[in-house]
Amino acid sequence: MKDKTLAIHEGYVKDAQKTMAVPIYMTTAYEYENTQHAADLFSLKDTGNIYTRIGNPTTEVFEKRVAALEKAAAALATASGMSAIFYAVSNLAKAGDNIVASTKLYGGTVTLLTHTLKRFGIEVRFFDPHSPSEIEKLIDKNTKAVLFETISNPSIDVADIETICETANREGIVTIADNTVATPVLLKPIEYGCDIVVHSASKYMTGQGLAIGGVLAESEKTKEKLSGNFRYPHFNEPDLSYHGLVYVDTPFPPFTLRARLSLLRDFGAVLSPFNAWLFIQGLETLSIRMREHSKNALLIAKFLKSHPKVKKVNYPCLEDDENYKFAKKYLKEGCSGLLSFEVESFEEAKKIVDSVELFSLVTNIGDSKSIITHPASTTHQQLSKEELKAAGVSEGLIRLSVGLEDAEDLIDDLKRAIEK
Ligand code: PLP
Repeated sequence: MKDKTLAIHEGYVKDAQKTMAVPIYMTTAYEYENTQHAADLFSLKDTGNIYTRIGNPTTEVFEKRVAALEKAAAALATASGMSAIFYAVSNLAKAGDNIVASTKLYGGTVTLLTHTLKRFGIEVRFFDPHSPSEIEKLIDKNTKAVLFETISNPSIDVADIETICETANREGIVTIADNTVATPVLLKPIEYGCDIVVHSASKYMTGQGLAIGGVLAESEKTKEKLSGNFRYPHFNEPDLSYHGLVYVDTPFPPFTLRARLSLLRDFGAVLSPFNAWLFIQGLETLSIRMREHSKNALLIAKFLKSHPKVKKVNYPCLEDDENYKFAKKYLKEGCSGLLSFEVESFEEAKKIVDSVELFSLVTNIGDSKSIITHPASTTHQQLSKEELKAAGVSEGLIRLSVGLEDAEDLIDDLKRAIEK
């Protein structure tokens, strides 16, 4: 079935009430039929509900829909995008290991890797997502993951996805692709040979800035990669914390199974069923919305490019953008709603941000409502001029998350603010 159909029907089997909308199962626990049933559930002889920290019927519909859209074998929902990334990495690496990560990442992911995971004894080494050949020089026998964003936030770079995943596959290393900005509507990393896809569902999946959540999805091929692989003994040896279960020997996708039974069980960053329900509503319209976000963003990028007061526009679907060749290969349906542009000075950028009326000054992306940010006065305020330059953030840089309003109204708003 096609994406639009899957997003609306996958994973929901109506019960006796025949409700058209997926019910919200707001419950902590579930009753067992008898002690044997309980024992069978715990030992995975039977599948079913145990406790909402491990699984929930509403959340399961969301997980099945994301898995179907990403062409994945299974998915696991989490409390936030950050916890999805943390689980993806910590499902692979332990103290003494290292991971190889793109230089173009969301700020929260950078602090997770360089500060928090460092304290866990996991080292990070960085590569340029446009030059995957750098990966080969960085990996060794302790490398457990290659992590990158398909379209990066905030730098808006498109990674050379297929080459990155091919390079890691040759070495038997699991790849983690953060597909938050592209969403599976515009790009499916698993089709390019990647293993694990992670999302902040708080962005385009909810679509209206309604809730925090995350999800990770696992390729069908990951089981083969993990099986017998010297890098991942914990998938191939008995897990003493779970009745001696050997993850690759079960009939289930092993990466998601371990993330659920071990990480969700012990760390507990579980998605609320209510938020899962909100994301289910979001997924139903994701295909339509992503095309509209992309259409609006391209119109605005073209307008900004034509304006004499704008020095530079960064949008991968513009033919002279340095990301265009990757956008052409990987983003055939559109380049999503993020773009940035540069004006002459810090003061000029501040004036524009303070003068727009339709765009809101907010640090979020992927909302139906358009958002504007000025990194130099907000997220990157603490950085010196030199540090701003190294981060690729000029003082006059403005980032837009283009929403679903009429593009003409958004262009009028920007024009008025730029020319004020
Ligand atoms: N990944 C990307 C690309 C993001 O932009 C964000 C948040 O902005 C995250 C992950 C973290 O997601 P969350 O805020 O849901 O934890």
